This record gives sequence, structure tokens and C-alpha cells, in this order.
Amino acid sequence: MDQRDFSSVVMARPAPRRSRQTRVAWGGNVVTIGGDAPVRVQSMTNTDTVDVIATAIQVKELATAGSELVRITVNTPEAAGAVPHIRDQLDRMGIDVPLVGDFHYNGHRLLSDYPAMARALSKYRINPGNVGKGDKRDRQFAMMVEAAAQHDKCVRIGVNWGSLDQELLAALMDDNAKRAQPWDAKQVMVQALVTSALDSAGYARELGLDPNQIIISCKVSGVQDLITVYRALAARCDYALHLGLTEAGMGTKGTVASATALAVLLQEGIGDTIRVSLTPQPGEARTQEVVVALEILQSLGLRSFNPSVTACPGCGRTTSTTFQELAKQIDDFLRAQMPVWKAKYPGVEGLKVAVMGCIVNGPGESKHADIGISLPGTGEAPAAPVFIDGKKAMTLRGDGIAQEFHRIVEDYIERRYGRMVAAH
Ligand code: SF4
Repeated sequence: MDQRDFSSVVMARPAPRRSRQTRVAWGGNVVTIGGDAPVRVQSMTNTDTVDVIATAIQVKELATAGSELVRITVNTPEAAGAVPHIRDQLDRMGIDVPLVGDFHYNGHRLLSDYPAMARALSKYRINPGNVGKGDKRDRQFAMMVEAAAQHDKCVRIGVNWGSLDQELLAALMDDNAKRAQPWDAKQVMVQALVTSALDSAGYARELGLDPNQIIISCKVSGVQDLITVYRALAARCDYALHLGLTEAGMGTKGTVASATALAVLLQEGIGDTIRVSLTPQPGEARTQEVVVALEILQSLGLRSFNPSVTACPGCGRTTSTTFQELAKQIDDFLRAQMPVWKAKYPGVEGLKVAVMGCIVNGPGESKHADIGISLPGTGEAPAAPVFIDGKKAMTLRGDGIAQEFHRIVEDYIERRYGRMVAAH
């Protein structure tokens, strides 16, 4: 290869998705999933659904953080009875995020005994592994699908490795044992997960559900396993796919594992809606899973939610903490303003801000951002040049650099995005 020839370089970008499109709605809020819709963000509450107020508050927090659908546990008659009240509370607060009911074991009974709950939910999650055993299985699955058809709701057929249909797995294991060269146990697992999901979807269609009312997921907790399973799933169907690494874990581990698995698949055009299943660390907000999901989509360039802050990692040239503090203050400031700015300044989520630690890359990176600041490194003159739209606009000095820079960012946003509002 000619090392100087770059004519064949192709810029990396996510492959287009090729799924059907599903609509999940509440009131006037219609969330399309799949097809050419943006990849959607989902989350799940961890409150007791019976506690109407606590659940409604957490749903509101998750929705405000950016979750476009919120799933709640519906596990008992009391929880089923609480669902319409949660919906009412949310409607009173002006939160029209669609609610998804998570059913296991008794969903068929709850959906037929509590029609107000069935109406208040916008989507039902059915786990084929937890619907019932033997001859009850099909009957109970059918009751849930018929409830969805009756109330015009869509369903997610959500298979999970931890609750896989054991009868199906045993049958596939038996078949495998008869092979001249038996497959690896993991290969049978992939087959079982995908078969369980697609057979269930096929049965739902036989029962009258439109394929555009069906979303599929096959979750496992290993990164490579998830990639394998979803590639196999995407190759065998065109349903909209809900994507997530189940039981991802806590903190850095859960965040990195989820981002790694989801990035590979989303880049291949696989996945129409995502959930990051983080275990909250003590004291950590439930909304962290939404923050991570938004960051994954924004990092891949699939969606824009918040202005992005490019900050250098710092090094021996940034021996004081001033630089880290300023980078964090600006990031926090931008995030805190977003709920108001989003409505006031359309397009502001595409803003790029750079906060750099010294003269080496500072001016260059700042010029590439919409607005950037290059702080003085150790031994440099105590001055921070600010670049706006690629040109040096001013130099800040003294103790109030952070506050002055906030003001400059706000003025810039008002000038650039406020004008767009006026023009509309
Ligand atoms: S921009 Fe300067 S401070 Fe930041 S990492 Fe590079 S050399 Fe270090």
C-alpha cells in the first residue's frame, strides 16, 4: 500500500438501521421506535410501584433526564391498581412520557383483571421465559397478546438469559447432543435466545398482532455474548430491536461494559431503542442510567442531547487543579441549563465547547470548537485566550475566569440560537 495515498479512506459512520417502525404513544406524545426514527432511550424505575407518589416522581426525574419511555414493575394486584394513579399524577405534572409495564408470571391475569392499568400503559413487556409452563404457557401468552391487541398497545417480547424458557433450552440441548459434532454450549444459548424471541413473535402475529406492534430484545450480561446474540437476531428478523446489556453492574464497570457492547452494535445499525441497566451505587441517582445512555448515543454521533465539552486530560503542564475545576464547572453549568435552553434555544445541543489546559493543544482545539478557552499551563503567562467561531475574541485574566467564561458562553448562545428563535 502506498503510505501517502489516502484517496480510499472512508470515514466511519453508523450503518443504517433496517427495522420496522413501532409507535408507542401517550396522549399527543408519539414515540416512534425503529425504521428511520432516532435511537430511543429507555429506563426503568426502582421504586415500589404501589407507592404512587414515589414512582411518579422517579418517572418524572427519568423523563426529565432524557428517558423517552419509562418502564415500571407490575408484579402484584396492588401494583396493577396503582398504575392508573401513577399515570394520572404524571399527566397532572405535564409529563407525557409513555409508561411500559414489566410483567412476569402473572401478567396475563393482571392485564385481564385490571383494564384501567392495561389502558394506562403504552407498551407491555412480555418475557416468554416467565409466562407459564407446559400447556399453560401458550394460553397465558395469548391472554397478554390479546390484551395488547384489544387496547391497541405494542409489546416488547423480552427474552433474558437469566430467565430463558427452560423447556425450549432443554429441547435444543437434546437436539444438540444428537449432532455428530455437537455445538458449543454458547452457540446453543444463542439459538435458544433468538428462537424463543422469534417463535413468540410469530405466535403473537398468529394471534393477530401487527408486526409493527412488536419489539424484540434478547439480553445477556456478557459483552461478546450480547454482540453475538444481536447479530444473530438482526440477521433473522426485521422487528424493531430493544438493545441493552442486562445486569451490566455498577459504576465504571457497568458504564464501560454497556458502552462497549452497545457501541459495536449501534455502529452496525443494530438497535432501535436502548437501556443501560446500571446498578446505582449508594447515593447515586437513578437517572445515571439515562445520562450514560444519552452519552453513548451522542458519542457515536447518532443523536445530540447536550452541548459537548472537549477537555484535554491535563498533564505535567497543568499542575494546579484550576483547569479540572473549570472544565467541571463548565460541564455542570451547561447540563444544568439544558432543560431551559432546550426549549428556549433550539439547536443548542449541537454546541461544542473546548476547555483546554495549556498552549500546546489549547488554541488549536479551541479554534475547532464553537467557543473555547485555553487556560494557562504551569509557567505560562496567567492569561486565558477565548476563541469564538475559530477566532481569538478576548483574553481573560484574574480569579473570575470561570464566571466570565460562563457569561461569554451564555451571550454566545443567546446571540446564535436566540436569533434562530426570532427568525422562526
Ligand atoms: S493541552 Fe496542554 S495541558 Fe492539556 S494535555 Fe495537552 S499538553 Fe497537557
